[in-house]
Amino acid sequence: MIKLENISFDHCIKCTVCTAYCPVARVTHLYPGPKQAGPDTERLRIKNPNLLDESLKYCNNCKRCEITCPSDVKIADIIQNAKWKYSRRKFRLRDFILSRTDLTGRIASLISPVSNFLIRLFPVKFFLDLVFKISFKKTLPEYARGTFHHWFSTNRSTQEHYKNKAVYFHGCYVNYNDHELGKDVLNTLNAMGFGLEVTEEKCCGVPLIANSFLNQAKKNAAFNIDSLEKAIQGADRKIIVSSSSCTFALRHEYPGLLEMDTSVIAPHIEYITTFLYKQFLKGHIPNMKPLNLSAAYHSPCHLERMGGVIYSVEILRMIPGLDLRLLHSECCGISGTYGFKKECDQISQDIGSDLFMQIESINPDIVITDCETCKWQIEMNTPYKVLHPVSILSKAIVS
Ligand code: SF4
Ligand code: SF4
Repeated sequence: MIKLENISFDHCIKCTVCTAYCPVARVTHLYPGPKQAGPDTERLRIKNPNLLDESLKYCNNCKRCEITCPSDVKIADIIQNAKWKYSRRKFRLRDFILSRTDLTGRIASLISPVSNFLIRLFPVKFFLDLVFKISFKKTLPEYARGTFHHWFSTNRSTQEHYKNKAVYFHGCYVNYNDHELGKDVLNTLNAMGFGLEVTEEKCCGVPLIANSFLNQAKKNAAFNIDSLEKAIQGADRKIIVSSSSCTFALRHEYPGLLEMDTSVIAPHIEYITTFLYKQFLKGHIPNMKPLNLSAAYHSPCHLERMGGVIYSVEILRMIPGLDLRLLHSECCGISGTYGFKKECDQISQDIGSDLFMQIESINPDIVITDCETCKWQIEMNTPYKVLHPVSILSKAIVS
């Protein structure tokens, strides 16, 4: 039976708005844009899969086309599905390594002083570029010592006396790279009277989807859904997520692209700033001191797609002494693993160049964004430090 969502390409009215907004089509002739790569060619691909166009690999799955489409065509999903379903996939060790964030994170965080030293070494970067086609111009993110999950399990007792609890899906970035963000989430929630619970989790699947490992993404999704269902069972607990891309995966990619049943956990999932904003509205506002900082805020693509930017901005506006400037809404160009690939590196840089110039012209004390890979891209291309909105809020909280 034909599913309605699978023929959403039929709703395309050929307005080409999506192509005008596609950050990749804007900077390269190698990619024809969402209208042609999505609904136009899908009509033909379902009849003859050999019509698959290799240019689909340049779509960075930012979902900006879907935000603009007046007919709600699932353009990026059509493109990701086509890459997965029709392409003659060759196994690429590079894509395997970049998408196995749990595997690489576990090893690298175990020996973080060594791995952090190695990933910055010229001969190592040269080797990664030459052999694996991981761009020499990009620097892989640093790893923390051990995992956040382990740190939390040794500090779980501090959360026991809280009557209200939320389940925290920390994601790979907090687990392997940035424990401080996880601790900032804990500090903020505790200051507002909520304890945290952390359950077993695997990578949300965003890098697996981007690299066409959809079967593995489904396995990870099944594990996470089962684990989160157990964590909330019988209680009206929220599942809060501090990565905008992980939130997008749990809320939209699982039931949409991966066709998983998320009916039990879906009503509980909230991006952290949405959760905080709703609590603020209920009067649960923590005591804050003035920060005396100027900041530029960058809105990540996946948060834009979910309509969640407004909550981050409103939370930041409530912090005293934070002089906030909003950057134009545009893709930073990194899109997870996309910008690290040699064949996409220049496209990634060209997409982000406007954003980097905007930031430089504002010259803030700090840049704020919700997405870890946007943070990497901005820190690689400007001299500014980038923090998550919750880390800024945590700095302001008087405990
Ligand atoms: S997901 Fe992003 S890169 Fe891909 S077609 Fe849509 S706008 Fe372009
Ligand atoms: S924006 Fe939507 S309706 Fe317009 S061309 Fe793109 S897919 Fe078709």
